[in-house]
Amino acid sequence: MTTKKELKIGFIGLGIMGKPMAKNLLNAGYQVCVYDHKHTVIDEMVNMGAMKSNNAQELGKVVDVVIIMVQDSANSEEAIISDNGVLGTLKKGTTIIDMSSISPLVSQKIYKECENYGIDFLDAPVSGGEPMAISGDLAIMVGGKEEIFNKFSSIFDILGKSKVYCGDSGAGNTTKLANQIIVAANIEALGEALVLSKKSGLDPKVVINAISGGLAGSTVMNAKGPMMAEGNFTPGFRINLHQKDLNNALITAKELGVSLPVTALVQQMISSLISEGKGEWDHSGIATFVENISGIKISGK
Ligand code: NAD
Repeated sequence: MTTKKELKIGFIGLGIMGKPMAKNLLNAGYQVCVYDHKHTVIDEMVNMGAMKSNNAQELGKVVDVVIIMVQDSANSEEAIISDNGVLGTLKKGTTIIDMSSISPLVSQKIYKECENYGIDFLDAPVSGGEPMAISGDLAIMVGGKEEIFNKFSSIFDILGKSKVYCGDSGAGNTTKLANQIIVAANIEALGEALVLSKKSGLDPKVVINAISGGLAGSTVMNAKGPMMAEGNFTPGFRINLHQKDLNNALITAKELGVSLPVTALVQQMISSLISEGKGEWDHSGIATFVENISGIKISGK
């Protein structure tokens, strides 16, 4: 195993999640070489001590492992296996760790392409959002070869407070879909509960305080309840990204022949919010769908 500091990490995708994650790796003493289509964020990272790349292929030539943190399946394919992708530039035995939340089927396709080049590939999506990315407390779920998961466990320890090997290629992203189904339904139910409370004259903050220690309490309630109570939908995790995840869940469900009725319902609510122009809002804004059909605002006077 290459020792810490000697290992040169490439990091592609420096958005809400990727930037703080790359920063944590720098702070832990790793050499980090960065690339994002948005060049201003590359300059920000260079000021923090990162090495600059002008494109993914330049990055691929100088690193020992590549971490990807882009929006969706199409972005991952572009960053890794397209003509401009990193794959063809890597030395044999290098590993790509894709921490984006993408379709498990696309993860498996990328895994196979990587195998043809003698490159190892892990799908390692995360849960926790920007605050946990900043504090290095993400929950990381990993698919691929177990020995490769073990080889990079010290990197996962810097980025997350938990890392779980879930199974073969695609298993990390299937686990992430399970996470996203639960979070979406949970946010929607929280919205319904707070609309009911508000309409009956209660203070939503008092309701959250009263029930968060009981069975209904959850990380979702702690993080998203106060945002709903204040009508603050600054992202965070954007509605557009949750739509992508629920679409992937429904496609995967169809492939497997299982039915996910509540997921499909929340996915349709999210479609309506996106049509209203709310796609860039935080996903706690799912509550505004419930507000609109009842004509009451959780944060209203
Ligand atoms: P983001 O849109 O803020 O950042 C993505 C970055 O990737 C952008 O800066 C974009 O320019 C860059 N990018 C896209 N394609 C690229 C390519 N081919 N080459 C170089 N750069 C490229 O997204 P985010 O919120 O950081 O989310 C990243 C991933 O993490 C998504 O899959 C998301 O579902 C997942 N995720 C996000 C959160 C959250 O709270 N934001 C939480 C858990 C998981």
